This record gives sequence, C-alpha cells and structure tokens, in this order.
Amino acid sequence: MTEEKKRPYQKGHNNSPKKPYYGKKFDPRKSGARRPDTNTNGVSVRIGQNFPLTIKRLGINGEGIGYFKRKIVFVPGALPDEVAVVKVTEVEPKYIAAKVLKIREKSPNRVKPLDEFADEVGGFELEHMTYPAQLAFKKDVIMQALEKFQPRGWSDYDLRDTIGMADPYQYRNKAQFPVRKIGDKISVGMYKRSTHDLVDLPVVHTQDQTTMIVMRTIRELLDKLSVSIYNEDKNRGTVKTIVVRVSHTTGEAQVTFVTNTDAFPGDTALIEAINKALPQVTGIFQNFNPGRTSLVWGEETIKLWGQDYIEETVLGKTFQLSPRAFMQLNYTQMSVVYKEALEALDLTHADKLVDAYAGVGTIGLSLADKVDEVRGMEIIPEAVDDANINAKINHVNNAKYEVGTAEELFPKWQSEGWVADALVVDPPRTGLDTALRREILRTQPEKFVYISCNASTLARDLVDLTKAYKVDYIQSIDMFPQTARWEGVVKLTRRA
Ligand code: SAH
Repeated sequence: MTEEKKRPYQKGHNNSPKKPYYGKKFDPRKSGARRPDTNTNGVSVRIGQNFPLTIKRLGINGEGIGYFKRKIVFVPGALPDEVAVVKVTEVEPKYIAAKVLKIREKSPNRVKPLDEFADEVGGFELEHMTYPAQLAFKKDVIMQALEKFQPRGWSDYDLRDTIGMADPYQYRNKAQFPVRKIGDKISVGMYKRSTHDLVDLPVVHTQDQTTMIVMRTIRELLDKLSVSIYNEDKNRGTVKTIVVRVSHTTGEAQVTFVTNTDAFPGDTALIEAINKALPQVTGIFQNFNPGRTSLVWGEETIKLWGQDYIEETVLGKTFQLSPRAFMQLNYTQMSVVYKEALEALDLTHADKLVDAYAGVGTIGLSLADKVDEVRGMEIIPEAVDDANINAKINHVNNAKYEVGTAEELFPKWQSEGWVADALVVDPPRTGLDTALRREILRTQPEKFVYISCNASTLARDLVDLTKAYKVDYIQSIDMFPQTARWEGVVKLTRRA
C-alpha cells in the first residue's frame, strides 16, 4: 500500500506536507550545467545574492511572485505591489526562491498576523494579509489555473466571489500536535517549516477554543504526572502526538494519545486527571505508532476510557465520529459547501445520485431525502463502514456505500444498468482519474457537481469535461482562512 492510501480518512489537504508546485529539484547532471548556483537561461544569480524586487502577484501557494531579469522569483510572505529587498535562497533552472530581508514599500493589504509564529510554521501563509484580500486571492487562484489549462470557454466562466467566514478564526475543529520534552520543558505545538524544531504554542488563533483548552490542560497534566514523553533522537519514551477533536454540535471533545510504546505507563492517573479537569472530554484513546516515522497515526487504536464516538450533525443528519473517521476541519464552511452542492445539483425525487469519493458519506446522506437512491464509493474500508452505519442511525434506507475507486465502481454500476442521473465528485488534490473522466464523458449524467480542493487539477479535469459539459459557474468557498488552500464547487450542465 502506498503511504497515501495507508493514511485513512485524510483528504490530501488535511495534514499532508505541501507539495511544491514549481517542478522538480534541480539536477545539474540532467541540465548539463556545471554550477548549481548559476543557471543556463542566461540569468546569472547566486544563492545569498540580494536585490530589490517588485511583487506582481501571489502564486497558488500564497507566496509573492516577482521577476528578476525576467526570471520568476518566489518570495514567501511578500504581497502584491510591495517592493522588497530579497535574498536568494535557491536557484533552479525555472525559478528562483528568495526570502524577504526588508519591505521597502508596504501593501495596504498588509496586516500584523495575530499569530506571531505565522511565518515560521505551516498553515498561516496568508495571515499577514487582510481577509478581503485573502478572499480575492482565492478567486484569482482559480483564474490563474484556468488561464494555464484553458478549458473550453474558460475566459467566460462565471467565477463567483469567494464565500468567506464572518469570523475567519477559531475554525479548526481538530488539533494534532506533536509533544516533545526539551530539557525540563514540555512543548506541544507545530514544527518550524521543513525542520524538526517544535514550537510550543499556547495560543493558536485558527483553532477552535476547546481544542486549545484541552491541549494545553493535557500538557500541564503530562508535566504534573511526569508521563513519559517521546524522545526522537533516542527513539524512546511514550507520548508522541496529542490529537484533540471537538464536535461543533455538542461541544464534546475526543482525545487520542499517539504513542511510541504499546504500554502507556501512568495512563490511569492521567485519565483520572483529565476527567476531573476537562468534563468536555467524553472519550480517550491510544493509537500505537512505534518508531521514527513521518506518519502521525499507526494502525492500531484502542479506547482507554469513555464513549466510542463524538457526534456531529450535518444538515440535519447525525454522524458518529471515531478518532480516525474523516470530517472536514471547518464545520461552518463545510455546511456551506454542501449547501452549494445541493443547490447546484437541483435534485428531484426520481434521481439516482452517485456520491463519489464519499468519505463517511456526509454528502450523499445529507441529500438522500431529496432523491430516489444514493450510491457512494470510497477506497478506505473503515470509512465505508462508517458511511453505512451513519445511513442506519439516520434511518436512511435508500443509500448504500461500497469500497472501491470511483474509476472502477462508477463504470461498473452503469454497465450493470444502475444509471446515474446526478453525480457529485469530491476528489483529493490529485483530481479525477482519466478512466473516470472518460466514463463521465461516455454516459453524461444530467446533473453534475464537482467539489474541488485543488484549482490546478480542477482546471486540468475541465479540459476533458467541457467536451460534454458547460461550466455554469465556479463558487469558491474559504474553508481554510489564513492559509492559501482553495476549495470550490463547480456546477456543470450537459451541452445541448
Ligand atoms: N466527500 C467526503 C470526503 C472527501 S475527501 C467529505 O466531504 O467529507 C476525499 C475522499 O476520497 C477520501 O476519503 C479518500 O479516501 C477518497 N478517495 C481517494 N481516492 C479515491 C478514489 N480513486 N476513488 C474513491 N475514493 C477515493
């Protein structure tokens, strides 16, 4: 199994490290260049060199983009219309990377980030920009992607203004923080970008308050009770990561300790102390994940105390969430996405609906009342089990979820005579598989909505899909304020 598949319930955008989108690492052997710090495109530049740069726009990862002698320069943290003195950190055949030394002319959209560590750790790429400018950026990201791939009719698409949050903070319903002991001090927080230096984070403004209260209280309890903490250098000790998830509906919290050892010395006292200090915690779990590994979760999860699930209600349906079950990180905006999908689908009671890339069935189950039948597919067996359980507890009798890929099962159902009238796809960042696109073009379901978390693969997929469909509109929704991440709902209509 690939690493991606082993990590259950995680949409590519959940915790996975950001992939640089600007190509592969420079390989001097392949390019024929002798010195990796100059390049062959006629522009001479070296690592460490400083120069002033005017920022023209933001790239899809939220970094400032300028041009040095016509060569593209990526500068994290710089904003459009700013003039910055930058220092070159990387020279590649196709681009230069640089960091800001000084901003000479500031953008009116620049603000002081609420989180002072925003430029050190991942997940705060745009916190130095006003919120309206962030929303405008997210509309521009899809425009840039369309411009690049140029699907049929792209310049006339109706790109709707990004739907933002009234309060673009405290939205993350889950915190998954590593724990380390440095000297006497226990740190619980996030790693500095591309390092293993852990920054202790008492306050994180994008996190739901409860997740932080629980996290910080547990940190104190670990300290007070001298619970064994994982030491990465020695690959010894117990507690590696604390995961806290909260239900928006009930306010209840679920805690999982990811441990290096099977044994969890001191867990009884710890559970007792948590029960006393944190009544909102209704379930405590241990996940065993031994050794040095970049994966947060191991295979095995056991309950130490309390309830098996927390419950979340989404558009009137209740979902039971075990520690590893996938749920979108932003409850408020997730509901907006699903409502947008519902509106765009325009369902009738005669429709057969396919919920492709279903996760635990949140989309299909919340739409089941509106249609004749729902079928969904998902590659993670536990998620499919959860989806079918969720159907049962909500008394949904017309929905069925199967384990398998969308590209396999969608054609299979059609060939067996179960023909979809409506299709909603919600793929990971990689977008739709070629075989699925082919089948969609062949069978052309009348109603079709594409929920995307990656503007680039969406634009690529639209090149194919617009052979049979028109793009009615693209509605971007800000699921991850303060980050560069993009989410959108696309309504497609069959060409006459
Ligand atoms: N629709 C769900 C989940 C979306 S995340 C929600 O809104 O919560 C995308 C899901 O697609 C993940 O659960 C992932 O496991 C699943 N997936 C990835 N590749 C797939 C494929 N080829 N076919 C079906 N499902 C896939």
